[in-house]
Amino acid sequence: MSHVFPRHCHSDLPTAVRGDGCFLVDAQGKRYFDGSGGAAVSCLGHSNARVASAIKDQVDRLAFAHTGFFTSDPAEELADLLIANAPGDLDRVYFVSGGSEAVESAIKLARQYYVEVGQPQRRHLIARRQSYHGNTLGALAAGGNEWRREQFSPLLVDVSHISPCYEYAERQPDETVEAYGARVADELEQEILRLGPDTVMAFMAEPVVGATLGAVPAVAGYFKRIREICDRYGVLLILDEVMCGMGRTGHLFACNADQVAPDILCIAKGLGAGYQPIGAMLSSRKIYDAIRDGSGFFQHGHTYLGHPVAAAAALAVVRELLDNDLPARVAERSADFAGMLHARFGQNPHVGDIRGRGFFWGIEFVADRDSKTPFDARLGLAGKLKKAAFAEGLVCYPMPGTRDGKSGDHVLLAPPFVASDDELAGAMDSLARAVTTVLEQVESL
Ligand code: PLP
Repeated sequence: MSHVFPRHCHSDLPTAVRGDGCFLVDAQGKRYFDGSGGAAVSCLGHSNARVASAIKDQVDRLAFAHTGFFTSDPAEELADLLIANAPGDLDRVYFVSGGSEAVESAIKLARQYYVEVGQPQRRHLIARRQSYHGNTLGALAAGGNEWRREQFSPLLVDVSHISPCYEYAERQPDETVEAYGARVADELEQEILRLGPDTVMAFMAEPVVGATLGAVPAVAGYFKRIREICDRYGVLLILDEVMCGMGRTGHLFACNADQVAPDILCIAKGLGAGYQPIGAMLSSRKIYDAIRDGSGFFQHGHTYLGHPVAAAAALAVVRELLDNDLPARVAERSADFAGMLHARFGQNPHVGDIRGRGFFWGIEFVADRDSKTPFDARLGLAGKLKKAAFAEGLVCYPMPGTRDGKSGDHVLLAPPFVASDDELAGAMDSLARAVTTVLEQVESL
């Protein structure tokens, strides 16, 4: 009997024993294409020799030194490399162990910044509905995913949520893309004014919404307007690129596509690429300087901050990404990826939308294409798709539609950047078979 506490208590999971390029292999020898990268983690596949050897070298040299006493070469080199490639005036990197920790750190940094600069009344955070920022309590409060928040709501701090930028479901038929982007961005200004401009500390958003909507980028101009509104009211812009960053959308940092630079940027998943648990919060010079010249101490921390082995792994990952120009390769291959998706799913009457960027795509399923009505949640379409795809040897990331009925069940695809065209085509064939099976099942009910 297993003593592991699994997330799904009644699931009977196979044992993964080996990674082989873009495939995971279980104890029975069955191979699974990693079509979601383990929730957009595995950007380099599972057997990258350079990363493996960087980890071993670092363990042999120094496994751990607490950041209360020491810095380390890999953490310093990784920070330099990230900052050399980062947008705007991001200047300092705070290394943590994952995405939720990066988001928690960002919220606390925003708050401490305003305490340091003598504006302690700034305490409000604004974020967006249909977003996900992590499962720890601060990050969960920032996210707008009702299903994840529901039972914990009495424990969550108050965060305002405005509309996401979700063109497929929310742009009106007579509205231009530009007018739509401006309308939803302006909700931020309205909320700042409602709360009182001098009480708002930060706005948080994912440049491409991942785990709640399934790879939804904002329309052109949206984030530019968001940046202007933040600047007008002295509100810090926190971008959460935990899922969409590190080359996933065809840029090392996803916000490059939107031509905005945040005050604080969170990254994780692709940074460690699954080889080590690591996340990071990048802070602008202005924020870091305010703390350095104020109390001189960021009142936040974890034992494993800047873990040398995690940093060494991430340093090798980022070098691998940059030396092989992988973000640019992902950008070049994005149209082919989209083409394959449209060829297989575009004509399906239950596919409402196919959207994404780079190697980060979502397929949204609807009961009725014209009215965009989602399937009844009780059908459990996402769960059925996950199971059917897994049986076909494909790991993908299906998610149920949102509680407000505005988005339908969808499948997120985020394969490793090193996947070949044949591997991608094979994965899409597996998904197409799974979709056919599940839709037949659902329609016969
Ligand atoms: N932020 C975003 C955008 C995410 O997608 C996730 C995880 O999916 C998180 C934060 C939380 O990251 P982690 O699961 O590493 O704590």
